[in-house]
Order: sequence, then structure tokens, then C-alpha cells
Amino acid sequence: MNLKSVPFEALDQLERFHWLVYVRPRFPLGGDVERYERDGFKRLIAGEYRRISVEGQKYHEAPNFCEVRLRLFVLEKLEGGACPYCTRLMGLANFGLVYDTSPGRAFSHCFQLANLVCCCGCCAKAKGSLSGGEWLDIQAALKAADPNAAHEMKVALCAGRAVVVRRMAGRGSSPGGAARE
Ligand SMILES: [Zn+2]
Repeated sequence: MNLKSVPFEALDQLERFHWLVYVRPRFPLGGDVERYERDGFKRLIAGEYRRISVEGQKYHEAPNFCEVRLRLFVLEKLEGGACPYCTRLMGLANFGLVYDTSPGRAFSHCFQLANLVCCCGCCAKAKGSLSGGEWLDIQAALKAADPNAAHEMKVALCAGRAVVVRRMAGRGSSPGGAARE
């Protein structure tokens, strides 16, 4: 494997701790797989941070956090494991970042860490510009009607959104766009 890897020591001390807590039970430390995941994670968050910053510029707002803080935020949420919307398991290969209140639906403070939610890749794609509360309500209503149909609809929503996100790629549309599954 030819990797220009981020040295473990180069990580911020707190980040190193959270990375260890998350990764140790999953990958052999210092191995190729772990380095590959670490670099991929850094690249993914760098992309998300750029996307959020660019979108913030449209609203004349800058994020109130830095890239390292965003990585810490995600690692902390991944340690918790469960998607806050659907309780599905999240992981390095299955998470996305969305706004609780989407820019355009609020006057300000959208680009603050408190307005960001780390959720599973499927919810990240399907939620769109709904608020977190609205997305929870819709899922609850669907589940009450028919749990199987609810799951099918969510998967269909994800698939549809993924197509839209691919079309809009590069235009800084939504932080949900980089979710991996
Ligand atoms: Zn979810």
C-alpha cells in the first residue's frame, strides 16, 4: 500500500485520545488499515469543513469551529455509536453531517457546531432541509403506520437523494452530501 499517511503523533492530543477510543477495538493500531482509515477520515472531514465554509459564505457566516474541532465532534459521536435519528449503528464508513436547522430556514447561527448533527449516512441523505425535529416526526409517523414500509421508504429516499447529491456535487449544496455508506 502506498500511503502518504498522517503520522499518529501529528494528531492533536485530544484527537489522538478520541481516535484511540474509537479505533482500538476495530483495527490493529499502526497497521495499514488503520492508517488508511485515519487518512480517509481526515480527508472526508476536510471536505465537509470546506463545504460548510463555502455554504456559510453565501449567508455571510463563518463556522464557529475549526477543522480539528469538527473531527473531534464526529469522533465523539461515533464513539456513542447510534444515529440520533434512527438509532442505526454509525461508524467511519457510515455517517454524515447535517444541519439541525438548515440555512435558509433560519436567520443566523446555522454554521455553529450546536446546529450540526452527526447521523447515519442514510438519515444524512434522506433528511434534506427538514429540521431534525421534523425528520424525527416523519419517521415516527411512518413507523406507526407500518415499520417495514417506513424502512423501505427511507431507503428509497436515500437512493433518490444520492442521485441528486451526485448531480450537485461540487456546488457546496449540503453537508449531507459526503455521507458514505
Ligand atoms: Zn439514521
